[in-house]
Amino acid sequence: MRYAIISDIHSNLEALQAVLNTIELEEIDKIICLGDIVGYGPDPNECIELVRQNCEKILTGNHDFACIKDTELYYFNQYAAKAIEWTLTVLSKENLEYLAKLPFADRIENYYLVHSSPFEPQSWDYILSTDDAEFNFSYFDQNDQICFIGHSHHPIIYFEESENNKLSYSYKTAINLPLEKDKRYIINVGSVGQPRDGNPDSAFGIIDTNTQVYQLKRVRYEVRKTYQKMISVGLPNFLSERLLIGK
Ligand code: ZN
Repeated sequence: MRYAIISDIHSNLEALQAVLNTIELEEIDKIICLGDIVGYGPDPNECIELVRQNCEKILTGNHDFACIKDTELYYFNQYAAKAIEWTLTVLSKENLEYLAKLPFADRIENYYLVHSSPFEPQSWDYILSTDDAEFNFSYFDQNDQICFIGHSHHPIIYFEESENNKLSYSYKTAINLPLEKDKRYIINVGSVGQPRDGNPDSAFGIIDTNTQVYQLKRVRYEVRKTYQKMISVGLPNFLSERLLIGK
C-alpha cells in the first residue's frame, strides 16, 4: 500500500491541485487528510469538495473547527480570525455541515492520525521540540509505529528509540526515511497550502508499507495566482505575502 498524507491545505486550490496531480503520478492507493482544509486562503468550498472526492480519511483541524465553533476564534491571531470570518461569508451550508462531522483523530493500519498532537487532539497543542514529542509518544498506542501530524506547517520527523530498555528521543528533517522496526515516529508532513519552513513549495508525505520508506515530497504550484486571488477578495496582505516566501 502507498498512502499520501496531506495536511493544512488552507483553501489554497492551486496548491491542492498541484499536489493531487503529483499524487496521481506517484501511484498512491489512498489519500489521508489531517485537517485545516480551510482558513487563510481564497477557495474554501473548492478545497473541501476536492478533499471529499479524493481522500479516504479526513480529520478536522483548528481552522475547520473554528468555522463551526466561534469560541475557538479566541485563540487565533488577528489575521487567522479575519480569514475565518471571511471564510464563513462564502462557505456553503453543505460544506459547513460537512466540516462539523470531521473527527479529531483516526487510525489506518498501525498509524495514528491527528491534526495537532496525540495528547488531547482537541486542545490543538503544537509539537515543536523533542521534549514536546517525548511527552506525546506516550499518548498513542505503543503498537502504532507512526503518529502523523500537521498543524505547525513545518515538516519534521521525531524518533523514539529504545536501547538497553532506555528510551531516547531525537529528530530529523530528512526527505527519505527507511523505517526501522524498533523505532516509533511522530511525523509532521508539512503544509500543502501555506508552507512555513522557508520553502514556498507545497509539502506532503508518502508512506509505502511494502518498502517501509517514508518520503517527504515538495511540489511547486502557481503561488502568484493564489496570491492575486487573496488580494482581490480582500484577505489580509500578511497572509498572501507569506505564501511567496514560505514563511
Ligand atoms: Zn494549519
